[in-house]
Amino acid sequence: MKLILLGAPGAGKGTQAEILSRICNIPPISTGNILRAAMKNGTPVGLKAKEYVENGKLVPDEVIIGIVEERLAEADCKNGFILDGVPRTIAQAEALEQAGISFDAVLSIEISDGEIEARMTGRRTCPDCGATYHIENSPPKQAGVCDKCGATLIQRKDDTPETVKSRLQVYHTETEPLKGFYEARGLLKMVSNQSTIEATTRVILEALGIDA
Ligand code: AMP
Repeated sequence: MKLILLGAPGAGKGTQAEILSRICNIPPISTGNILRAAMKNGTPVGLKAKEYVENGKLVPDEVIIGIVEERLAEADCKNGFILDGVPRTIAQAEALEQAGISFDAVLSIEISDGEIEARMTGRRTCPDCGATYHIENSPPKQAGVCDKCGATLIQRKDDTPETVKSRLQVYHTETEPLKGFYEARGLLKMVSNQSTIEATTRVILEALGIDA
């Protein structure tokens, strides 16, 4: 199963990608997580990306395309993968097509801007393993501590209210046109965000025709 998860920043793509990954036994691939790790390690890609990521702007397509092609060539992607946060522009989608990478479905999680803005202020992220939590909807067992690796959780710089506004704008102008791109290829499935993570997973599984 090769899947793309589309949706505004904060729509829950990362959370659903992790759940689907466990159900389908395929890796979730988040370009956001890859870039944050590169920034933390001070790699050339990380240094290039820092300015864009921290200001809620898109990292140039050629950087992203390089990262994704390299990651998809790894052995664990042999039986499929879930792309979370990529492609984010038509140019990225075209590059994936040109590289011969095809998909079984493209899921778009639909959620209003107002709900996103309310949500993002409560998001907390693990700087070490990339796991995400929400202080109310999906809190860690111990406040401020990652369930998975024990690191101290942080609020991402790009989850502040001003940056969230600009990221939403970028989403509408650059990424939302991908819905038409994939609809024209018969791959698009739109699902409405539900009031709980579990309920959203259920509508996603239904849309994919997966019995879990
Ligand atoms: P995310 O964790 O997916 O919300 O990504 C965080 C930030 O990383 C975005 O706001 C962008 O600055 C950058 N980023 C992640 N994925 C991409 C992509 N596919 N294209 C361009 N920039 C990206």
